[in-house]
Amino acid sequence: MATVRINMSKPEEEPADKPYREMSFMEKVKSRRNKSSESTKAFKQFCRILFTFQSTTQLYVFLVYILPGLFEDGWTRYWMKVLAVFLCLEWLINYFCTVLYSTDFQKTRDSPTVHMKERWENPPEYFESYASESTLSNGHTTEVMNNQHDNGELPFTFCDKCKIHIPPRTHHCDICKTCILKRDHHCYFAGTCIGFRNQRYFYVWAFYSIWVGSLGFYFTVEYLKEFYSPYSWMDFIPVVAFYRWVSGTENMSFHIVLLILHLYLELMCAIFGMIYFSGQTMFVARNMTMFEFVKKIKVKSKNSFNQNYRSVFGDFWALNFLFPMTILFKQRENGITWDGLKIDYNSNHQ
Ligand SMILES: [Zn+2]
Ligand SMILES: [Zn+2]
Repeated sequence: MATVRINMSKPEEEPADKPYREMSFMEKVKSRRNKSSESTKAFKQFCRILFTFQSTTQLYVFLVYILPGLFEDGWTRYWMKVLAVFLCLEWLINYFCTVLYSTDFQKTRDSPTVHMKERWENPPEYFESYASESTLSNGHTTEVMNNQHDNGELPFTFCDKCKIHIPPRTHHCDICKTCILKRDHHCYFAGTCIGFRNQRYFYVWAFYSIWVGSLGFYFTVEYLKEFYSPYSWMDFIPVVAFYRWVSGTENMSFHIVLLILHLYLELMCAIFGMIYFSGQTMFVARNMTMFEFVKKIKVKSKNSFNQNYRSVFGDFWALNFLFPMTILFKQRENGITWDGLKIDYNSNHQ
């Protein structure tokens, strides 16, 4: 049995601050990368504020202005109120669960359901060959064998950035700077990677984005048609509308400014929701990830449609669309071993 040393040290420290002109070429590249990671961080904060702002103000404007303005019947008003609160809450809860559930493999690998210890103390011989092989085009995972083992298990690979052995379907994310368990993609809106532990929330978040976006857009348009008479198309530019409100223009109140801003946010929400919901439906049904789809890695699942959904959501998976069911129904997989799945990693080498 070959012995392999597993280096747990962190990636190298960044060089000390130096004036830009005096830096070597590689240092300049590194410093630019650091700057871009700062802007990604800022964008992450911006998105979090934006989503919280939109869901709360959209609900507020709907309850206070749109509902009394468009609906007269008491029962209709009541049920519309319930629906609006439900949709906005679901949307926000699933968004925050997507953000807060870490898919970082280094943090989650001590999970008791995972038999990592044996693997780490007695790494199989094939690990050694992985560590010395070339990297894949996807980044920092060393090449893996074409075939699965005799027992049907998918092989572990080695991440040369984190210096750890990682389970199949785990991939390194340069933005999160860590390895992500069952990496799907990096979501800029959530500011985190979508992977094994938060895909269930991301999927439901996309589902509610469609409803919050499209219904919100429809009612906003209806309300503006009835209660707003703009001077020109320019009044539909949020900055112009805001300026008109500040300067005290007649017929322009703050909730109209909010509604005009919502028009764009709701449209964006509905469009992105549609794209990601349909994408995730296709991926989850076939038990593949967006990563594997983009990299043209061939994935064959012997499992049924139902099993593939339970792998992401746990039992009674459809209930997740009514409320997050994490505590009651755990996912069927452990994120490490993948039963009934065949992955041809080398299929992306054209
Ligand atoms: Zn890594
Ligand atoms: Zn990421």
